[in-house]
Amino acid sequence: MFYNDCVRQSELFSKTRREAPKDEESVNAKLLTRGGFVYKNSAGVYSFLPLGWRVLKKIADIIRGEMDAIGGQEMLMAALHDKRYLTATGRWDVGVVYKVFAGNEDEPSFNISWTHEEVIAEIAASYVNSYQDLPLAAYQIQTKFRHEPRAKSGLLRGREFLMKDLYSFHVSENDLNKYYQKVAKAYHKIFKRCGLKSIYTLAAGGEFTVSNTHEFQILADVGEDTICVCEKCEYAENKEISKLKTGDKCPKCGGAVMEKRAIEVGNIFPLGTKYSEAFNLRFTDERGEKKYVVMGSYGIGLGRTMGTAVEVFHDGRGIVWPENIAPFKAHLISINRKQKTEDRGQKIYDKLQKAGVEVLYDDREGVSAGEKFNDADLIGIPYRLVISDKTKNEIEVKRRDSDEMRTMNLEKILKLL
Ligand code: ATP
Ligand code: MG
Repeated sequence: MFYNDCVRQSELFSKTRREAPKDEESVNAKLLTRGGFVYKNSAGVYSFLPLGWRVLKKIADIIRGEMDAIGGQEMLMAALHDKRYLTATGRWDVGVVYKVFAGNEDEPSFNISWTHEEVIAEIAASYVNSYQDLPLAAYQIQTKFRHEPRAKSGLLRGREFLMKDLYSFHVSENDLNKYYQKVAKAYHKIFKRCGLKSIYTLAAGGEFTVSNTHEFQILADVGEDTICVCEKCEYAENKEISKLKTGDKCPKCGGAVMEKRAIEVGNIFPLGTKYSEAFNLRFTDERGEKKYVVMGSYGIGLGRTMGTAVEVFHDGRGIVWPENIAPFKAHLISINRKQKTEDRGQKIYDKLQKAGVEVLYDDREGVSAGEKFNDADLIGIPYRLVISDKTKNEIEVKRRDSDEMRTMNLEKILKLL
């Protein structure tokens, strides 16, 4: 899938750590740091190491596939924004915005990207003229910066984080609504492919819009949000705006409503004409009349999705990655490193490589079997393949999410993978 899908653990940039970092509270940050996926530079600011970057790239690819499928065109916008963008919509003084100034200035004249409604509205205004130019949809995967006061949840709440943001442009509210539904479906697919079950939740518009919006929530006790969700039909409202509480009847189906903790991994916004008005984004309709373009915006946090997967899929020993976003498919481990085992390991590694299986090969010398198994459990790759003097010509296979061990030959394993 990537250029280098087979990596020797002895050459891996990062190493695992036995101890959890003292300055992390969240499970995702602890396990991702111990496993060598991320490095914390400061509160809410993480670097993605090769293992972590592989996971993030997989999430990005899943998102790209689903965005392209609904007509989204990928682009990359500037991250440094002149002050005029946010002053045009009254958002220059939103609390989370990081402002920057050149060394010789007294006042900040720029901000770094926290969202892109203003920037893309201005760009679109230079290309959209007539109703025939619409609808349009464009997205990017880009770094956002937000000064989050509480940055204690690891990847769930960063001050710097990767977001996919899609923006759509329409001739009418009606056309926007149809597209909004399409995006909602694409979002459910994205999270499903990441191994996560998302709940479509009615929510507030925040700093973005006066309308209601919809969030995609993943149930998890560590979630900062509370949603009121029907146990039967899964109709859900964010507690922030909901009048429902545990025990109430669902307004849609009469089922029982429960309040549950959840993590917001996506949010979609019907924007109306707020940003088009600010940037004179207009089109001429069929009767020659000038009208404002109706916009929507749609976000997914990539790092938050990754962190959520860790919160949902881990056990006492480490991460249990969902297959589609695991850094590798197989973790090949050779133990009892007699020359014969080593040669066999190399051969199997080569064959897996040829067959296109993404594999991390634990070829480290002087590391005990126990340590290798602990590391494999911590890193959480879906299939563990062990060869030792004991396994003879076969390979011992174990899934990370099960205790069952089976012994097979390579051919069978290639079929399994
Ligand atoms: P929150 O309410 O959690 O602060 P938000 O509603 O302000 O987030 P949006 O502007 O809706 O965030 O951003 C779209 C998506 O980007 C969110 O659904 C989430 O997945 C992700 N995201 C937002 N803020 C962060 C953050 N600080 N760290 C990581 N991901 C984030
Ligand atoms: Mg949101």
